[in-house]
Amino acid sequence: MNEMNLRFLSRSENEVFARNAVAAFALLLNPTLSELSDVKTAVSEAVTNCIVHAYRGGEGWIEIVCKIDGNRLHIEISDGGKGIADVEKAVQPFFTTLADEERSGMGFTIMQTFMDEFAVKSNMGEGTRVTMRKDFGEKANVG
Ligand code: ATP
Ligand code: MG
Repeated sequence: MNEMNLRFLSRSENEVFARNAVAAFALLLNPTLSELSDVKTAVSEAVTNCIVHAYRGGEGWIEIVCKIDGNRLHIEISDGGKGIADVEKAVQPFFTTLADEERSGMGFTIMQTFMDEFAVKSNMGEGTRVTMRKDFGEKANVG
């Protein structure tokens, strides 16, 4: 088991940093371009949510824990922001609380589609944690 942890402020420029840092760690798994791009997109969506929703443009900490276990990459992205009132509702396609800011409500759906496992845990006023898993080399092994 290999592991890396990241902790950074919820500034919009750190979204690029975070997605590339996780991608660099994922390179240890010899990913295909498509696998790497799936991971980057999912991380980008989760981190953007922390920045725009959890802290509403203010400054707070975002933490990422990545673990490699065999051919699996586990990613946990946490914030200490406002939390989600109804997670079941929030993960539905097109659900957004920021429709007026041209959010489409597809972030969680994208994470779910591009990753092999996805879960959200949240407590109002305490924060949110998104847990995801990507299995590498699965398609190459088929047939
Ligand atoms: P898009 O991602 O398409 O720009 P969106 O961010 O609104 O739009 P999702 O990423 O699917 O869509 O998130 C759905 C809703 O869940 C958000 O509108 C917001 O209310 C809530 N949410 C998501 N992540 C967080 C978070 N880290 N903290 C607080 N609320 C969140
Ligand atoms: Mg989003």
